[in-house]
Amino acid sequence: MEANYLDNLVGVFGSPVAENPTVVMMEAGFRELGLNWKYLTIEVKKEDLEDAIRGLKAFNMRGINLTIPHKIEVLKYLDEVADDARLMGAVNTVRREGSKLIGENTDGKGFLRSLREDGGTTPAEKNIVLLGAGGAARAIGVELALAGAQHLRIVNRTPARGNELAELINGKTDASAEYIAWDVPFVLPGDTDILVNATSIGLFPDIKAKPGIDYSSIRPGMIVCDVIPNPPRTVFLKEAENRGAKTLDGLGMLVYQGTIGFKMWTGVDAPVSEMKAALKQAFGL
Ligand code: NDP
Repeated sequence: MEANYLDNLVGVFGSPVAENPTVVMMEAGFRELGLNWKYLTIEVKKEDLEDAIRGLKAFNMRGINLTIPHKIEVLKYLDEVADDARLMGAVNTVRREGSKLIGENTDGKGFLRSLREDGGTTPAEKNIVLLGAGGAARAIGVELALAGAQHLRIVNRTPARGNELAELINGKTDASAEYIAWDVPFVLPGDTDILVNATSIGLFPDIKAKPGIDYSSIRPGMIVCDVIPNPPRTVFLKEAENRGAKTLDGLGMLVYQGTIGFKMWTGVDAPVSEMKAALKQAFGL
């Protein structure tokens, strides 16, 4: 008999969600491994999240991704939340264990994996400049701090958000952090090991935009990372490459955050290169 899909449903809740590319990556992974799983892209309005979570339980789904506007609100409806996700105050992946729903955040973990595997380095004892203090920056900042970063300088346009992230890291992790006002162009301190653009500057279609930093303060040997997945080679990364830095694009982070969720749900290592190829194709790259 044909196996049915009901035990193996996952997906994403968001609004608007139609353009979300994760389905392409997950389905490519399921296909590659011959797994009888299905990933559904589901439009769920802000006010309907509680009902949607009930539906997830009723349908016996194995888990769900959350995107705008649900990443914070969903914490109310979960049975457990992983320590790092609780620190960030945001969940992007829910997995079901028996009748329990457990919240995780794989965004920062995806970034860390890219840093380790593609960048060949770890954050341990590094001085890091993080541009931005929004959702992506919070996830990255917390994971870098938990992974042993020495000092984080949070540079953000809006002081309140920057200060809040620095206080969170100082208060809840062993790393130290400070907020620095973003006076354009921002000159990188000489001891910077890793620079991360975690703002949305440079995202398609605004592909000529680049963060307001003094690019001559990028030194050879620095690791420079961008969260922007599309286009992967941003002007920011090209400028950094021209100055001899090693660069990491946001496509790596996007693929790894998905592959980490894939493993949490299925228990099987995700086929990274096939999933990355599917995503590139979806972006027309
Ligand atoms: P948020 O809206 O939460 O945060 C946006 C950040 O960018 C804020 O720090 C904001 O500063 C800053 N920013 C935006 N425009 C400007 C500007 N013109 N000048 C200075 N600062 C600016 O968004 P997210 O954190 O959720 O997403 C940020 C980016 O990360 C997006 O491009 C998204 O695509 C990408 N992303 C990539 C992922 C991946 O896997 N590769 C995963 C998640 C996100 P302020 O606080 O002053 O408004």
